Amino acid sequence: MKQFFYSIAGMQLKKSLFYESEDYFRSHVCSSIVAHVFVGNMEPLKAYEFIKPLKEIFPGIVIVGASATGTILKGGIREQQTSISISFFESTRVKTTIYSAKDKKLFNTGWLISSLANTEKQCKAIEIQVATHNGLNVNDLFDGMEALNPNIAVFGGAAGKYTCISETFVFNENDLSTFGILAVFYCGAEFEIEITHALGWKELGHVMIITKSVGQDLYEIDGEPAFNVYKRYLNIDNDETFADNALEFPLMYKDVDIDIARIPLWCSEDGMLHLGGGVKEGDELRLGYGDPAAIKNALYEAREKERVFRPQGIIIYSCKTRKSFWKGDIDQELLPFEKISPIFGYYTFGEYIRIKKKIYICNAALVAIGIREGEPVGDILPKEENVYNKKVGSTLSMVERLVTFIRATTAELELSYEKLERANKKLEQLANVDALTGIYNRRSIEEIMKSMIFEQEESDESGYILLLDIDHFKKVNDTYGHDVGDKVLRKVASVIKHALRGNSMIGRWGGEEFLIVMVRKNQEEALKDAENIRTIIEETDFNPVPKITISIGLVNALKKESMIDIYKRVDGALYDAKNGGRNQVSTDWRKKNAV
Ligand code: GH3
Ligand code: MG
Ligand code: MG
Repeated sequence: MKQFFYSIAGMQLKKSLFYESEDYFRSHVCSSIVAHVFVGNMEPLKAYEFIKPLKEIFPGIVIVGASATGTILKGGIREQQTSISISFFESTRVKTTIYSAKDKKLFNTGWLISSLANTEKQCKAIEIQVATHNGLNVNDLFDGMEALNPNIAVFGGAAGKYTCISETFVFNENDLSTFGILAVFYCGAEFEIEITHALGWKELGHVMIITKSVGQDLYEIDGEPAFNVYKRYLNIDNDETFADNALEFPLMYKDVDIDIARIPLWCSEDGMLHLGGGVKEGDELRLGYGDPAAIKNALYEAREKERVFRPQGIIIYSCKTRKSFWKGDIDQELLPFEKISPIFGYYTFGEYIRIKKKIYICNAALVAIGIREGEPVGDILPKEENVYNKKVGSTLSMVERLVTFIRATTAELELSYEKLERANKKLEQLANVDALTGIYNRRSIEEIMKSMIFEQEESDESGYILLLDIDHFKKVNDTYGHDVGDKVLRKVASVIKHALRGNSMIGRWGGEEFLIVMVRKNQEEALKDAENIRTIIEETDFNPVPKITISIGLVNALKKESMIDIYKRVDGALYDAKNGGRNQVSTDWRKKNAV
């Protein structure tokens, strides 16, 4: 393969410009001649006139044409210019077809393209150029290509344009379309291809959900007009400056094998965003930003693959976002590729790449396609670790600093959220727990009582309430002091808490009174447990207090009974226990039986 490159600022193509390639053409036998023509600043009809001389000089030439937001040639961007590369293939057969998208049946077109490629002898790659008229969902095209032979590479771009041009367009040697798809088939045993891609845009801020979208039209994020995200987080207005301002902040999500960025190309009055590729309802999105270090890393990886591949030429489809990100420094991401092999391409409204079996529509990415016929010739370029580590301009280091700032403040915010959460948990705990004894307070044990008794499902078991009061506790305080009294209260609480078995809870009812809720099979069982608690306290060492005893009132809670009634009954039972001489359990059913 032999390539010649031209860049033209005007609207006319002089035949004399091509004398060198004409010479080559005359003296060599070629399997195919392909001219990639990327148009910088022409209306569609002008462009079609423009290419006529090429067809006259090179009969049988295949033309791969698209409008562009700037073309790429010889390691640099050519703003407003039309760039042409003429490739003379030795054995590769190249042919093109244009499909109209007027019927909007892109899925069918995709199916046609892949059928053609599958039946073509030794088809190695398909290049796709799309004139992305508003409302065209290119995802449908690629969905239609699902049956494409897994060995066939796919790459390409969405035609771009400057704002002064009315429409994007694609063209080949026979046809031009402002609403269609150009497919280019590269076939032949010798044709080799290595497609790489570099993004480097990273996610920022929290996760949002797509709540309404159709194809490339994103209506709602988190139930709000999608535009609101740009207003709220980036203070971007919905006016004629929207696209330019939003350009560097795509929406991002993770697809199977790669991170995908979606650039809003324009915004409707009611806040719908038209994106440079489709998104799916229910999927997660985050805002993205260009991270200089990540961009350089991604470029390095892509370039490394191309270096090892040793192509004869590199086609580059790069997002116009990258131009606006790098500002005057854009050539620094292109030049290292030029060192490997001549580069040629354009700035797109979307970049296409097939990874494994799936064809992705990228935004904000740079897709580099190394091509070659036969085995690599000449020496391999040595590895250069710091090819992208050169010092960058002052504007960019400002971005780097701001990104660091955002990361640091986000991390701090997350930390304070964590602290706040911990404090809240503590507060919540405090609200439920008695400060002196650490067991449930009155409010909580009352809630527990309600749920254990009134809200429990039908079963053979029923709820029992125990009201405990320490005997002659005033004396403890009077004799040993308030502090010892407190210690006794804590110990009583803890000893009982640990002695409780099965479905039981204890809370401090107030002063030296405790309330226990338990669910038991029958009265005997409940009484046995109450007796057990009483005995444990009686036998516990409360040094310096020689002996502590408790009196217990025990009742069976009835489901239809009010809390007040239960409390009255249990208080009555406790009163009986005190009256009966303390250090004992009293139940109201024993009393009833006695009556
Ligand atoms: P009875 O056997 O009839 O229950 O006699 P009592 O002395 O235990 O009864 P009373 O209700 O007269 O006394 C309860 C005492 O408990 C009075 C109060 O000072 C003391 N008390 C209440 N709350 C606390 C507390 O948090 N710490 C201490 N140390 N004492 C408390
Ligand atoms: Mg009392
Ligand atoms: Mg008491």
